[in-house]
Amino acid sequence: MGDLRVVSGWRGHIPKGNRFDPSDLLKDESLPKSWVKALSEESDRDLFSDSGGRWVRRGEFLELSERAALEMHSSGLEPGDRIVLSSTASIDMVAKYVGALRLGLVVVPMNTAYTRSEVFHIVRDVKPSAAIVDSAKMAEWIAAGIRQPGFVEPFQGPGACLPMPKGDLQVFFTGAEPKVSPGLTVPLDEALGDTPALIAYTSGTTGRPKGAILTHGNLLACAKSLNIAWRWTNLDRLVLSLPLFHMHGLGVGINGTLCAGSSAVLLERFDPEAVIDAVKSHSASMFFGVPTMYQRLLDSKSLREFQTLRLMVSGSAPLSREVHREVADRCGTAILERYGTTESLIDISNPYEGGRKPGSVGFPLPGVEVAISTDNSEIFIGGPTVFKGYLNDPKATAAAFPYGKEWFATGDVGTVDDDGYVAIAGRLKDLIISGGYNVYPKEVEEALRSHPNVKDAAVVGAPSKLWGEEVVAFVIKFQDVSEEDLVLHASQFLASYKRPKRIFFVEEFPRNALGKVISAELRTMVPSWDQ
Ligand code: AMP
Repeated sequence: MGDLRVVSGWRGHIPKGNRFDPSDLLKDESLPKSWVKALSEESDRDLFSDSGGRWVRRGEFLELSERAALEMHSSGLEPGDRIVLSSTASIDMVAKYVGALRLGLVVVPMNTAYTRSEVFHIVRDVKPSAAIVDSAKMAEWIAAGIRQPGFVEPFQGPGACLPMPKGDLQVFFTGAEPKVSPGLTVPLDEALGDTPALIAYTSGTTGRPKGAILTHGNLLACAKSLNIAWRWTNLDRLVLSLPLFHMHGLGVGINGTLCAGSSAVLLERFDPEAVIDAVKSHSASMFFGVPTMYQRLLDSKSLREFQTLRLMVSGSAPLSREVHREVADRCGTAILERYGTTESLIDISNPYEGGRKPGSVGFPLPGVEVAISTDNSEIFIGGPTVFKGYLNDPKATAAAFPYGKEWFATGDVGTVDDDGYVAIAGRLKDLIISGGYNVYPKEVEEALRSHPNVKDAAVVGAPSKLWGEEVVAFVIKFQDVSEEDLVLHASQFLASYKRPKRIFFVEEFPRNALGKVISAELRTMVPSWDQ
């Protein structure tokens, strides 16, 4: 193993004249304590609106969350019990999420599009006592997963604080009024910094999803650090169309809004025109998205409405330089790209003030430690946002912390330029070794995308008798272009060993719910030379 070289940079995120002490991030102790503090003032200010078109106010929302917590308590749930959360975004869904955390439950966000077998994988791992859902089918699948033979005792490791589920699955449908007996009270908001808050499943682009145990301290530190770095105040209004089963939507969008005491417009799904309309009609100040969303927004003639936003953030996957440049040209504001993982939340960000470099994710966020290994340039994260381990998986947990519990191995490769900005070269697992040389798919993809007839490119390694692995590209084109032209174009930017040996033209790439290209699936689409 190589040495770890620490990357510095917090200062670049702190407003001039302000002092920053990392312990400030955890001063409020838990998410609910921070939220109740932020929302108890000026209780009639708007907080969330959803597809119903109505705004809920701060005070009203706190009451809704309290009623949700009371109903969960009356159903026999106790602090430490796990509750699956699988629903499209709505005010009531968020109130039930907040209610569950206020009662001390451990929330398990789950993709609403999962198939029965994916639901079974998570349910058999996490053993929930309850679920917040918006569909009877999902409730049935979760209950059936629990009844499955092979339901084993939980591992006594990082998740050992989590008890076995009791009795039948308790189901809470979003949109259903909580049933609460008059006069019932229960202690709320008692979680501490090291109390588990979420078990967040990784998106599984590199294998079966694993459950990352995130504490209140992890999530609070992340939200507070972003509040500082992005100048996120109670005057902000966010348009949020990201799914709330992923940390980008839930950990950043919802938790950040509640910590800042700002407001958010919740959209059930991403639709470019609906997003633009929401920005305009609600006078929003911020939009957070993934690169594919920005790509689709560029197709809209109304994108100029984004000129009124003070902040556009992109993350979860690499943002191409072309999209970065085109959005800046059309909106007058550069997208701020940031980097993070489910396990360590948001870690590196371009600065709010100062240059937002295309192709770079910026420098470490306030309080977050970042280091790069001297042997293979892998990025390691330390500090208060790093998770406690994977549920029921001591082997994967040990592999994630090869240098001890201080440093989480992200599996991503990074470089640092002379100004201290970090660029993500790609995932270690996606690295192509061709003829003994290392090729990062992202570099080849950028070269292909710079051709005017190319809309998008995705690059993987395929087995080769001659090279060990060879570079193979999948390309979505705007207009006709030949394989030869593309290789010729790429050769202006790439040494010969990096140029694609084969190019396939496709209509779409396989992507996960966050728009991330699933490289493992792409590799299966490469025909072998024998075919
Ligand atoms: P997830 O756990 O689903 O949030 O995925 C985390 C992974 O997304 C990271 O390990 C990176 O590979 C990738 N990722 C996140 N943000 C970026 C970014 N700005 N640029 C490139 N890759 C990113």
